[in-house]
Amino acid sequence: MQIVKYPHPTLRHKSKPRSRVDSELRQIIRQMFEVMYEGKGIGLAANQVDLPYRMFVINLQADPEAVDEEHVFINPVIVKRSGSAEGEEGCLSFPNIYTPVRRPEKVVLTAYNPAGQEVTYELEGLHARAVQHETDHLDGVLAIDRLSPTARLAVKESLAGLEREFESDRRGGLIPDDNQILDRLAKLEKLRA
Ligand code: ZN
Repeated sequence: MQIVKYPHPTLRHKSKPRSRVDSELRQIIRQMFEVMYEGKGIGLAANQVDLPYRMFVINLQADPEAVDEEHVFINPVIVKRSGSAEGEEGCLSFPNIYTPVRRPEKVVLTAYNPAGQEVTYELEGLHARAVQHETDHLDGVLAIDRLSPTARLAVKESLAGLEREFESDRRGGLIPDDNQILDRLAKLEKLRA
């Protein structure tokens, strides 16, 4: 399992809900936490590890020892948004890029946990920001889509750098072409439907 970086096409994939929580999914969740900790991230969505599943993990401490801070959100739905706040966001698929993003300050979200139970969360602050950032990923939406024109201009060069890296990796055979990637995602989705 590896983190895919912008502009990898899986980051633009809108994932469908999973119909069940099984041992395979629980194993993927464990691996996602490990990959997230290696990258020193606080959240990771399945798209970011090239999987078309509607789920993400977070640990705001970015610390594998802080087990109580580990949260898994399967088929999350944001049911209520309120307020507005700006905060800096980073993303493991955009290494070394941090940028101010304006989002609702509080959210109510429902999701399934790894035990298959539906849970309702009332979140604010960094917690609310993280789950919105990750839920966006599941819809193929990226933080760069939510930037002010000024913030967008500020990251333009960095994004162009990532695009060049991606093209170079692809030429080097490290990344399959778009059709192969989309075929693979469609097959995985069918398998799990
Ligand atoms: Zn992200």
